[in-house]
Amino acid sequence: MNIHEYQGKQLLKKYGVAVPLGNVAFTPEQAIEAAKSIHAKKWVVKAQIHAGGRGKAGGVKIAGSLDQITPIAEELLGKILVTPQTGPAGKKVKRLLIEEGSDIEKEFYLGMVLDRNASRIAVIASSEGGMEIEEVASKTPEKIVRESVDPLIGLAPFQARRIAFGIGIPDRQVNKAVKFMLELYRAFVDQDCSIAEINPLVLTKSGEILALDTKLNFDDNGLYRHKELLDLRDLGEEDEKEIQASEYGLNYIALDGNIGCMVNGAGLAMATMDIIKAFNGDPANFLDVGGGASKEKVEAAFRLILSDPHVRGILVNIFGGIMKCDVIAEGIVAATENVGLKVPLVVRLEGTNVKLGKEILHHSGLNITSANTMADAAEKIVQLVDQAAGGVVK
Ligand code: ADP
Ligand code: MG
Repeated sequence: MNIHEYQGKQLLKKYGVAVPLGNVAFTPEQAIEAAKSIHAKKWVVKAQIHAGGRGKAGGVKIAGSLDQITPIAEELLGKILVTPQTGPAGKKVKRLLIEEGSDIEKEFYLGMVLDRNASRIAVIASSEGGMEIEEVASKTPEKIVRESVDPLIGLAPFQARRIAFGIGIPDRQVNKAVKFMLELYRAFVDQDCSIAEINPLVLTKSGEILALDTKLNFDDNGLYRHKELLDLRDLGEEDEKEIQASEYGLNYIALDGNIGCMVNGAGLAMATMDIIKAFNGDPANFLDVGGGASKEKVEAAFRLILSDPHVRGILVNIFGGIMKCDVIAEGIVAATENVGLKVPLVVRLEGTNVKLGKEILHHSGLNITSANTMADAAEKIVQLVDQAAGGVVK
């Protein structure tokens, strides 16, 4: 789960991590109130969307006086911001963070992330703040320092010092930077984060070490331990279909292609996407209905696929183990009962109750093409989608 920058800063503040003074605003009126409550020489108005790269896209504006706040807030609220992280469609700005403007001496990068290979938290830092760390890693990898944290000991002060010196924090501020890192680490572990990225971490002209930007991601599997975090979820930032899917406990991820996939098991779902690609098709989604799915769950899954306007064909690939093929068939039939099925459907069923499943589909009156192997299924659905396009699209 992802949260907004202002929420991340509020959370980190509780752990003693230094952040600028700031308030959230949903309207221009709230924006001016927020600015008035912060005594500063300048203010920064920041678009709150679940994506980075806002600065370059015009989503971070500086106001030198209070009367500049309202016009900036009016301009940003409702604006569609397109950044390298939003995709071409962009994201609509509905909230703003109004914060104290800092006099920046130097920007750094500080990130903590779960290193799955080492089964440890890795602390990554760089003297190149404000830039994407991936870019620094590919162009000037020597400017990145890393420390791997022993989970029993936690981030040790000597490691934090090594990072601080490694990225060129001036001697006089090293202790502040060390304190910052230790507190960030404590927040990371305590809140079951999967990513904590401070980009930029800044040294101000008056010698403070501050988090000017904050990106926190949380491990969904740990959310049951942090009920208060659930209130921070902003459904407006999430894909509509992925929200519906999470209500039914389906693993669904929307993609850019036009072939909808319904599969059981994450591995089989990945393999299905690969084989569609191998036949020059493009999957519209990743969807794993899971092991013991009920008819209702399958029905919801199929409806989800049908509701995607980009879908020109559907491939159902089920290996019935715990999952029974007749349950899949009943779910498909129920889902199409009201809305019908306007795109080609290729079904490959195998395993438990396969005969019964095939009979249900056969008697449903739906126009279904059955396939025997995965390759056969992928080839058929790609062909059918191409035929349906009939040279109009291609
Ligand atoms: P993004 O990563 O989405 O572009 P940031 O929060 O990192 O957004 O802001 C972009 C840049 O704007 C920062 O690198 C920094 O130079 C400047 N900036 C952000 N917040 C402040 C602030 N409170 N005071 C001064 N400058 C800021
Ligand atoms: Mg940033």
